[in-house]
Amino acid sequence: MLSNSTLSNSLPSSNNPSLAERDKAVIWHPFTQMQTAPLPIPIVRAEGSVLYGANGQTYLDMISSWWVNLHGHAHPYIAERVAAQLRTLEHVIFAGFTHEPAVELAERLLPVLPSNQAKVFYSDNGSTAVEVALKMAFQYWHNLGQPRQKVIALDGAYHGDTFGAMAVGGRSAFTAPFAPFLFDVDYIPAPVPGQEEAVLQLAESLFTEDVAAFIVEPLVQGAGGMIMYEPDVLDRLFQLARRNGALIIADEVMTGFGRTGRLFASHYLKEKPDLMCLSKGLTGGTMALGVTTCAQPIYDAFLSDDKFKTLFHGHSFTANPLACTAALASLDLTLSEATLANLERIAAHHAAFRQRLSRSGAVASVRQRGTLLAFDLVAEGGTSYFNTIRDVAYNFLLERGVLMRPLGNVLYFMPPYCTSDEQLQYAYDQVEALLSELCR
Ligand SMILES: *Cc1c(COP(=O)(O)O)cnc(C)c1O
Repeated sequence: MLSNSTLSNSLPSSNNPSLAERDKAVIWHPFTQMQTAPLPIPIVRAEGSVLYGANGQTYLDMISSWWVNLHGHAHPYIAERVAAQLRTLEHVIFAGFTHEPAVELAERLLPVLPSNQAKVFYSDNGSTAVEVALKMAFQYWHNLGQPRQKVIALDGAYHGDTFGAMAVGGRSAFTAPFAPFLFDVDYIPAPVPGQEEAVLQLAESLFTEDVAAFIVEPLVQGAGGMIMYEPDVLDRLFQLARRNGALIIADEVMTGFGRTGRLFASHYLKEKPDLMCLSKGLTGGTMALGVTTCAQPIYDAFLSDDKFKTLFHGHSFTANPLACTAALASLDLTLSEATLANLERIAAHHAAFRQRLSRSGAVASVRQRGTLLAFDLVAEGGTSYFNTIRDVAYNFLLERGVLMRPLGNVLYFMPPYCTSDEQLQYAYDQVEALLSELCR
């Protein structure tokens, strides 16, 4: 039987507007030019790697819904755990109070992070996890009585959309209107293969005694275009940063929880970061939660009889018990044998597909790290985000039931780990069809 809402979605009309039309009347979407954007696609439910549209269409979610979903949508185990928590304790103020899910999550996260990570600070999302890391770094130096103001970041970095996170991200058209309000940061190019020595030389001159922190997305720069580089050169950058004491912040908001083939990208490194930022996959894509972790000396620099050495930061929903419970359930799944096998399975399929990709004239710079496979679509006339090849690819794939969201001319696969061989194959086939189309 058709419900009213299904019916109204299939029959748009002014007296019985569709969900998309009701949306248009009241909602402002993220990263969306509302004047020219087509109506959004209503999704009524999702399961595993599949999104179900209101009119019966299905979409294979090959970007894990903006990189957050690890184990598939509406995972029954996560749902059960969150539902039970919802009936027990939905939220409580986290200053002066605590609760089991927050403590247990910290107890379970720290042992799987680089071994120097000692304390967990909760917030709400990736941007706030970065804000907290930056505030910890600046105030660390302040509390020591040796204030440092300079931050070093990588060109093309993305660390989030709040002001501090924007300030340490690569400057672009996205940040231009806010440029006067962003603090100064020195940038070094991403140390991509072939550029390592040049980048190290520049870093040598930049990592001076006034550098408070060096922030990076280890091994993969996500939103900047899935730019990948090797662990070796990052270790050497960390060593350079360390020489004059700069604190190292590893922003693993995207790379965390298995995405790069290891539990964290930092596990590919010999050097250990001082601070880490986690979010996105942290709850398996179920709820918003951010985590900033730090090494003991950073925490210690805030311990004092002097109240002004306190970290004055917090959010209303800090350590929300439901979000922490979702993270605990997701961690169970992430650490399971089944997931480890899936990570290898998907990486192997990607590796095989790479061979096919590199034979296409419409593809350049095929690159992979774990379950993340990216390549450039060869575009005529420039490669900016605003290039139409992005829209052509997005629409072509969407019409064939595959959700991928190219970053400019960079197309990438970031599937949920439960994605089946058949689903992967279907998505690969549609990408090959796109490439043939582009070559015509
Ligand atoms: C997405 C992202 C962020 C921001 O996270 P939000 O939850 O969207 O605020 C920060 N850093 C990296 C590396 C990211 O990919």
